[in-house]
Amino acid sequence: MKRPTVLVLGAGYGGLATVVNLQKKIGTDDMNVILINKNAYHYESTWLHEASAGTLAPEDVRYDIKGVINENKVKFVQATVEAIDVDGKNVMTDAGEFPYDYLVIGLGFEGETFGIQGLDTYALGIANVNAARQIREHIEYQFATWSLEEEKDDSRLTIVVGGAGFTGIEFLGELGNRVPELCKEFDVPKEKVRVICVEAAPMVLPGFDPELVDYAVSQLESKGIEFSIGTPVVEATPEGVKIKKGDDQFEFIKAGTVVWAAGVRGNRLIEETPIESKRARVAVREDMRAPGYDDVFIVGDCAFLMNEEAGRPYPPTAQIAMQQGVTVAENIIALANGKPTHKFVPDLKGTVCSLGEDDAIGDIFGGKKVTGTTASFMKKMIDNRALYMIGGVPLVVKKGKFKFF
Ligand code: FAD
Repeated sequence: MKRPTVLVLGAGYGGLATVVNLQKKIGTDDMNVILINKNAYHYESTWLHEASAGTLAPEDVRYDIKGVINENKVKFVQATVEAIDVDGKNVMTDAGEFPYDYLVIGLGFEGETFGIQGLDTYALGIANVNAARQIREHIEYQFATWSLEEEKDDSRLTIVVGGAGFTGIEFLGELGNRVPELCKEFDVPKEKVRVICVEAAPMVLPGFDPELVDYAVSQLESKGIEFSIGTPVVEATPEGVKIKKGDDQFEFIKAGTVVWAAGVRGNRLIEETPIESKRARVAVREDMRAPGYDDVFIVGDCAFLMNEEAGRPYPPTAQIAMQQGVTVAENIIALANGKPTHKFVPDLKGTVCSLGEDDAIGDIFGGKKVTGTTASFMKKMIDNRALYMIGGVPLVVKKGKFKFF
């Protein structure tokens, strides 16, 4: 019997979890598993806010894919996917074409700018390792230039962060710690620096417990961060952003750095396939397959799942992406053996939002609230657990949040 070819696109949390769980459960001759990813490394997207603020080195956010796959069972191809032909069962990349029997699309998230004028051009996004490096270096450049220029333009030292959701708040938490360091490094008086969070919605961290949100806001404010809530960004220009403050009232914030952290969508390549999607996220069937395509699975941020109990979609998270990878691996093995697939059931363990190196808020184990160093410790445990699930103890020792050496 012909060995089925399983093609996994993307070595993010969902794609890697699929591959690692497949390689645990299959023999060397059972299937041809091919993992395709743009880079030779995986990056921890959940740590990108740290690399962006400059509180973690970009190298610490990533690790080699070949270090966590079993090359006797999985072939890794470094390539950029250019098109997916789900009817012809073929994937086109810059390294050639790859036909498949089963496809897993785990190409992750992209920033969503909701068509707001100028954002694509003038705002930076926390999208991947190099985008994080760009934000860090851009901020450092602005601080260094301010120090050197004779006629000082203080707006260089203003950082606007668009979005008070999870990513925006975690990034602000890092900036709260990083700005005093930057001031020292670049001889900048602290009072010259402004960090402003601009949010369109009337609240910070929607979905989080209000008491925890109050804690987060007051901790960030104590580090000098300003909030402008219920004030949508309507335009970005090379000089800053225009925000709407009332029916006919607008304010322009002059800023040397604008970071957009207010929305994500799935990978645009999905929209070029006949698979139905909304903002490139596919409402998957209960076994994680795409509607209408029995041989195509979608994992991670490209998948859309409704939480029927709560009446709202599950948020796109690494936690869910990794759990989906486990189910997808099991379902591919089931299909290859002519057995029925099973339903994906998320097992939500709570959410912890970091507010910098030593502070966080968390809503865990079905409603237990934690703050401060306890929550921060939990966050590091969660980060380490994600590493453990992919690469076991060796990866935790090498890349984990608690340093062993
Ligand atoms: P990704 O992790 O997005 O990976 C996609 C992979 O596909 C990447 O390796 C990419 O290089 C590759 N790829 C993309 N396009 C191509 C192409 N054309 N060809 C080849 N390869 C390609 N979630 C949590 O659960 N907890 C958190 O605390 C948390 N914090 C976050 C903080 C930040 C700053 C951000 C940005 C996100 C955070 N998230 C968090 C969300 C989480 O990171 C995402 O939900 C998760 O990364 C989605 O995983 P994924 O498998 O869909 O893909």
